[in-house]
Amino acid sequence: MKKLMAANWKMFKTWDEASSTAQELVDLAAAKLPDDREVLVFPPFTALKAVADVFASKSGFSAGGQDYYIEEEGAFTGEIAPKMLLDVGGTYGLTGHSERRHVLGEDDEYIADKTSYGLANGLKVVFCIGEKIEERKGGRVEEVLERQMRIGLKDVPKDIAPENLSVAYEPVWAIGTGEVAGPEEIMEAHAFTRKILISIFGEKANEMRILYGGSVKPGNCNEIIALDNVDGVLVGGASLLSESFSQIVLA
Ligand code: PEP
Repeated sequence: MKKLMAANWKMFKTWDEASSTAQELVDLAAAKLPDDREVLVFPPFTALKAVADVFASKSGFSAGGQDYYIEEEGAFTGEIAPKMLLDVGGTYGLTGHSERRHVLGEDDEYIADKTSYGLANGLKVVFCIGEKIEERKGGRVEEVLERQMRIGLKDVPKDIAPENLSVAYEPVWAIGTGEVAGPEEIMEAHAFTRKILISIFGEKANEMRILYGGSVKPGNCNEIIALDNVDGVLVGGASLLSESFSQIVLA
């Protein structure tokens, strides 16, 4: 299983900025990228083609959409269909990110629709889960993660190819805060995530990648990526500069 080293650029970067960051990333990391690593960047929609074009001839580099809608086309102002992402070279979609859950108000049911729709329409999906700080303090981590997975993945076909679905464990309190989860917290959450995935998909869930996200930086990624059941990372802030993201990718 290749480790998936993913970047979420959120609402940052114009076309030119995205194109040059992607090119720098390729220049810094492509020649040294181990065979068991895959690099994935989620730029804003307006820069997806810029990044996908830079990655087009590079094996091990992919781009994807940070979001998409659950229809093929129609009167859905402001929305983007999976086939539009595919059309400009995006092969992945992101669902369940905490900012979409907690800033933009998406619930488990809608995230479930999006996850199964993207998979059914040609995208590979990175599906995010994670607890808020009050849920952790209240001893509810497993309850929250299990609910998010059981609802969010309920319509994903059981015969899915395991490389097409990855789960990113991103504790909300660690996203963009500089406060990274500790090794024990990460290992416990990832082992639990694997257990639930196996209960849903059977043994093939051992081939699904579970990423950690939340204040990953060049200084902590070596330790994180070596932990049990950590099959990659999802990086926000530290992915915006090619120098720091290339160090993470090659960690
Ligand atoms: C994220 O946006 O998914 C994320 C993990 O952000 P950061 O790395 O900045 O915490």
